[in-house]
Parts: sequence; structure tokens; C-alpha cells
Amino acid sequence: MTTEKAKLAVWKFASCDGCQLTLLDAEDHLLDVVSAIDIAYFPEATRAVVSGPYDLSLVEGSVTTAHDAERIREVREVSKTLVTIGACATAGGIQSLRNWADVDEFTSIVYAHPEYIDTLATSTPISDHVMVDFELRGCPISKHQLLEVIDAFLHHRAPNIPRHSVCVECKLRGTNCVMVAQGIPCMGPITQAGCGAICPAYDRGCYGCFGPSQSPNIGSLAGWWRQFGVSDFDLVRALRTFNGYAPEFREASEAYER
Ligand code: SF4
Ligand code: SF4
Repeated sequence: MTTEKAKLAVWKFASCDGCQLTLLDAEDHLLDVVSAIDIAYFPEATRAVVSGPYDLSLVEGSVTTAHDAERIREVREVSKTLVTIGACATAGGIQSLRNWADVDEFTSIVYAHPEYIDTLATSTPISDHVMVDFELRGCPISKHQLLEVIDAFLHHRAPNIPRHSVCVECKLRGTNCVMVAQGIPCMGPITQAGCGAICPAYDRGCYGCFGPSQSPNIGSLAGWWRQFGVSDFDLVRALRTFNGYAPEFREASEAYER
């Protein structure tokens, strides 16, 4: 008796492709993945296309055009489970900087012929448009966390993705705190774990690429950063990077901007 494998689709919206490449970068685990799941739609990996519906859709990128907004609804319709991957899909990405600016001014500076650019004034996460079953954070996402999400899907269980801060990972790997020991501003206390606390291990502060941790105390972090001479202007700039439009970072950056 043969059992039909679950069908996987990988979709791209406004993004750099780094998160979907994480799946191809699974190296030793890639054969295990393809033996358990049928890669049915993944233009980055293969031109072969198996028609939907799909059991699991991984969606990378944010919604930045009217066509994106229409297409994500179609993707939702053909997906039994939809997981967003990366800062663009879960928080609007670096391109959401336009949400606090004039997009026409940006396009006039960046493009020789801005009249050909057809874009929305905003970049928004996928969850602003359709129901999302799970959000996997990171810029880019962690390979290990992506494999955990796929494994959880295959075994009908919730993914084990901790929502605690990067500080916990510093403690687990025995890294001295760069903020306490060296006075380096670090976003680790308000950033979700997942990277293994790479930046502090190399004597630099975390800049928040995994987005907000659960219940981040941004007011407390701001107090610490002020002691190091960081202005509110620079705090706002730090909050508005890859995950600037995530609600926790967005609300704080708008409060400190006033
Ligand atoms: S270095 Fe940063 S992430 Fe690590 S414990 Fe200190 S504040 Fe937290
Ligand atoms: S320490 Fe912070 S900035 Fe560095 S990889 Fe981890 S989450 Fe990203």
C-alpha cells in the first residue's frame, strides 16, 4: 500500500528570497524532507509544477502591490495550512519603511523611470490580508526552526518555537552580556530567540532581526540605552529595521518618535 505524500508549495511575495533558500540550504536534512513531503510548487528549486490544492504552503515576502493582495487570497484558497516565513512575510520587512514615508518620493529617487512603478503606499505582513496558521520569524529564518515547523506539520503537532528573548540564548551558550560588560546597546532583551545569539557571541549587539519576543519590555530597554547615550531618534531607527512594522516595535517606535 502506498501513502500519498503531503504536498508542499513555496510562494514568493516582496522579499529577497533568503528565507525560501533556507529550505534548499537544509543540506543533510534535505533528502529527509523530500522523502516525507512532495515539493509540488517551488519555482526557486524546480520548474516542475504539481497543481493544488496544497497541504502546506510556505509564504515568503510582504504585500506591496495590488496584485500581491489579490494573489495572496488565491494562495490561501489553495492551501490547507499556510505558514509565513521571515521578517517580510511576518512583519512587512525592511520595505515597510515606506509606511512612515512618502512612497512617491522614494520611487522618484530610486528609479530612473518611476512612472513604470506600480506599487502600494504600504508594505504589509501576510496576516494583514489572510488567515495565517503559523508565523516563523527571522531575517533570514533559522534552518533548524524551519525543519521543526515542517516536522510539526507532518506529525500534526504545534511547532516548538520558543518566544523567549535572545538573552536566554546568550545564557545557554555562556556568552558574556555585551550590554552589561561592554556598554554596547543590544536589542536582545526584546528580540525573539532562534538565531543562537550569534551577534553577542561576536561582541556586537543584537539588532533585532528575529523580531519582537513575547511581551517585550521596550520601555525598560529604552532606559538602559539612554544610560549609554543613545538618543530617542536612534532608538526609533533601531526599532524600524527588518521588523519595524511588527506591532510591538511599530507602536514603540511611534511613541518614541513623538
Ligand atoms: S548580549 Fe544582548 S542578547 Fe545577550 S544577554 Fe546581553 S542584552 Fe541579552
Ligand atoms: S543576535 Fe539578533 S541581530 Fe544577531 S542574528 Fe540573532 S536575532 Fe539577528
